[in-house]
Amino acid sequence: MKIKKISPDVRRRKINFHSEAKWHKRMLWRLREDSQFLRSVVQFSFLLLCLWIGAEFYLFMEWGQSAGTLPYHQRPPGAEGFLPISALISLKYWIQTGIVNTVHPSGLFIFLAIMVIGVFMKKAFCSWLCPVGTLSESLWMLGQKIFGKNLRVPRWLDYPLRSIKYLLLLFFAYSIFQMDVPTLKEFIYSPYNKVADIKMYLFFLELSSVALWIIIVLAVLSLVVKNFWCRYLCPYGALLGFLSTLSPIKVTRNTSSCVDCQLCTKACPSSITVHTATTVRSDECSSCYACVEACPVKNTLVMSARGTDKPIPSSVFGALVVGVFIAITGLALLTGHWRNGIAKEEYLKRIQNIESPLYQHNRGQVATYGPND
Ligand code: SF4
Ligand code: SF4
Repeated sequence: MKIKKISPDVRRRKINFHSEAKWHKRMLWRLREDSQFLRSVVQFSFLLLCLWIGAEFYLFMEWGQSAGTLPYHQRPPGAEGFLPISALISLKYWIQTGIVNTVHPSGLFIFLAIMVIGVFMKKAFCSWLCPVGTLSESLWMLGQKIFGKNLRVPRWLDYPLRSIKYLLLLFFAYSIFQMDVPTLKEFIYSPYNKVADIKMYLFFLELSSVALWIIIVLAVLSLVVKNFWCRYLCPYGALLGFLSTLSPIKVTRNTSSCVDCQLCTKACPSSITVHTATTVRSDECSSCYACVEACPVKNTLVMSARGTDKPIPSSVFGALVVGVFIAITGLALLTGHWRNGIAKEEYLKRIQNIESPLYQHNRGQVATYGPND
């Protein structure tokens, strides 16, 4: 394809942010005009928030494992955001009964926030907020620095690999779909689910050699292949990819002003052929703005809502992603659904007996339990 000439009046000039001497003005200017800088700031702020939740959970566990001899530290409800299966079960229970469960209520609201972002802003959660997405992106960028480029998986292998995450999603969705209300309730209020966050913490703290090797292999693959985990294995990403087909906001290309330079395709971390699309409908698009940022022609590649060609600036888009997340999790806080109903004494008792068969599960089946468990 022949690259057309860009007339000077439509060429997007690179902004020299260093021309602004005052650092705070320079920062604000960059946040407004450089979508990738803004996205990195949002990503790393969210990563820091997750690390803070992790540190709080550590202090809570120190208290619990000391049998309450160390000072009490409250469990951070945000940890429930790392229990997507439990959240999916909570969602179905809520839809069928109208009841927000009192075991992991914040997990349900965090899950809802992510789904709403998916419906309206495609997979923006993956590229703007998800801590695993941030680590994944940092790894392939590091790989690019070390090896000079990332490996491109050939299409014949890429398609079947991409279907793995949908198969995993199908497996979880089908298993949960089959559960009736009493079964959902039995799972939600089971001793296992009550300590699911604690079990997850202990799993990562006491990693088995198999789990450690799996993480190492995934990290190495993420160094060489862009977003290996997100693209091929993450069922959360599959669910968001599915929901993203409903999204009214999409990247659109103005074919009359496009000069066919292909810079958008080269910039896309999801390997989407942007330069031939009029509207990017791919389930892999994470609304990251990298293609929009790379396009050298004014108003040619834009993020816009269906029915309008008015570009949505990255600053507005980023504010929407963060705003929806804060609004829905804030709603949980305001309506008293943020903290769960498990008392500290109950946690203390359960942490002391965490190795009991009550807290094991076998292929999704929780152990039989009684009213006093
Ligand atoms: S098409 Fe554009 S917005 Fe979508 S993932 Fe690729 S670079 Fe990001
Ligand atoms: S839309 Fe893509 S191919 Fe067209 S001018 Fe912009 S970067 Fe180049």
